[in-house]
Amino acid sequence: MIKLERIMDQLLELGQIGWEPERGMNRPPYSPAYDRAREFVRRIMDEAGMKTRIDAVGNLFGRYEGNVAGMKILLSGSHLDAVPEGGIYDGPLGVLGALEAMRSLHEAGNRHPLEVVAFTGEEGGEMGGTFGSRCFAGAVDFGHLPPDDVMESLGVSREKILMSRGDSGNYEAYIELHIEQGPVLIDQSAGIGIPTAIAGITRYLVTVSGEANHAGTTPMTARFDALKSAVEVLGEWYEYAFSRKDFVSNVGKLAVYPGSPAIIPGSVEFVLEMRSVDRDSIEQGVGKMKSILATLKNSKGTMSLMIDKGAAAMNPLLREKIAFVSDELGLKWLELPSGAMHDAAPVSREMPSAMIFIPSIGGVSHSKDEFSTPQDIRNGVEVLARTLHMLDRK
Ligand SMILES: [Zn+2]
Repeated sequence: MIKLERIMDQLLELGQIGWEPERGMNRPPYSPAYDRAREFVRRIMDEAGMKTRIDAVGNLFGRYEGNVAGMKILLSGSHLDAVPEGGIYDGPLGVLGALEAMRSLHEAGNRHPLEVVAFTGEEGGEMGGTFGSRCFAGAVDFGHLPPDDVMESLGVSREKILMSRGDSGNYEAYIELHIEQGPVLIDQSAGIGIPTAIAGITRYLVTVSGEANHAGTTPMTARFDALKSAVEVLGEWYEYAFSRKDFVSNVGKLAVYPGSPAIIPGSVEFVLEMRSVDRDSIEQGVGKMKSILATLKNSKGTMSLMIDKGAAAMNPLLREKIAFVSDELGLKWLELPSGAMHDAAPVSREMPSAMIFIPSIGGVSHSKDEFSTPQDIRNGVEVLARTLHMLDRK
């Protein structure tokens, strides 16, 4: 039996750890608030009779043994860290929801071993996003690690990353319950979302160069202003990107050099981000930006790849089961791509994985105003519990 009151109490209490009034959640990984939050969850796992362990990079696991020998582990969870000034549901819902679902499954008698995981560092930071789950999945790119002293200050090392790799052969499946973080479910009056795939993220550093010069003495006709060129590039890009439905794009970081009011910009750098579940769409976008840069006169544009995380397909058989139990519960469900990154993306490289979304009121997340109703939370945990139950029977 799912106890909604228990989950709500736990969510709200956990939501106070790192909470700053007016601002929201401040619980980055490897911070004292993060450690307190993980300890809070560990205590709940202990009280629920789970055996707990924390791996070398800080992922927390709680485990129930199964009744039948030789069965593979059913894994469910999410993350406990938050973006700065974030909310209380993004991540913790999936951890505490999994705990409640597995607790009820265990009370009824489970055949498979059951594990709840609270991954660390999903939201990014020095180690990059989905850090804990990438360690677990053996998906850390050792060529793109921060400097040793940065890792040391966090208590992380190459050895610890290697030690945290999970033995994927022991796992049957991973299912992650999460808030949608978008408006689709609310708009369509659906209670449950079933992601088909998690969008990949591609980022390029784009540099537009002109010629720095005196802003007072250089005639307007003799300027090679890098910012003017960059504005033209972005104008054309936005016209293209805002007409597309198959990817989303953002330029959230831009710098002008040398960065003085009295100097004509000599160069401009910005980060072009694209997300899509479709590799071809990303490549078309990259091609478009290249062709825009190639048309520049009096200045030069270059692109260098920063991040290229491929899209992750969710397992069709698991998705079917989630749809089946949603029908059983009389909940309207729909399939959708996930524009946001999740721990299920790296984990899906290692074992069949799927996600369950519940509505985010107003489509709001990464904000202190992030909210999901207790009824939607109950539905999500119930769907998770029944899906795990189905998997446990086979
Ligand atoms: Zn999240």
